[in-house]
Amino acid sequence: MEIVFATNNLHKLDEVNQISKNFGVNFILPPNEFNPIENGNTFEENSFIKAKEAAFLSKNIALADDSGLCVDALNGLPGLHSARYAETQELRIKKLLNELNGIKNRTAKFVCCMTLVNANGKILFQTKGFCYGQITLEPKGENGFGYDPIFLPDNYNLTIAELPNDIKNTISHRYNALKQVLAFLNNNQTTNF
Ligand code: IMP
Repeated sequence: MEIVFATNNLHKLDEVNQISKNFGVNFILPPNEFNPIENGNTFEENSFIKAKEAAFLSKNIALADDSGLCVDALNGLPGLHSARYAETQELRIKKLLNELNGIKNRTAKFVCCMTLVNANGKILFQTKGFCYGQITLEPKGENGFGYDPIFLPDNYNLTIAELPNDIKNTISHRYNALKQVLAFLNNNQTTNF
């Protein structure tokens, strides 16, 4: 089964296809015009905005992921603003580490909200996945993307960027959301969509 994955982020596409490789689902990019205006106030709203636009453009069932890093000592920031917290990913990491300078509590979580819509943009399923951990003192590792080099997931002493991708894809917020979507697809006849 082919489902449009509402993103321009090839890392995310790669991750969802790895996670779902044994489920008979193949995620594909939306048409080139896909450029949603993410002006929602929650992960749920932005995820729905993306899914709706991808379904509208492709006339196909679509799944969207809206995700971000929420740091407890910063009252949940960068959160919804994770992608736009500073101009480049290097600067975003620098800014976050500066803001946590001298702060002992470094607990944080990655959040991923996934929304599955049918070709008419009607929500079929929406869910969230989390990955809990700590922000490190400095970036380490080359794998993954975004804030992976400064995130130490609970029960591991390596950052996500130091862990192999196949480990990330069994503990991540994206994995925890997608496994619920895959269970939904498995339990429902796609012909009813
Ligand atoms: P979105 O594409 O609007 O959902 O923005 C998500 C942003 O959150 C990304 O640009 C990253 O900065 C961050 N993010 C989301 N998921 C991950 C992840 O798995 N690893 C590292 N950073 C992530």
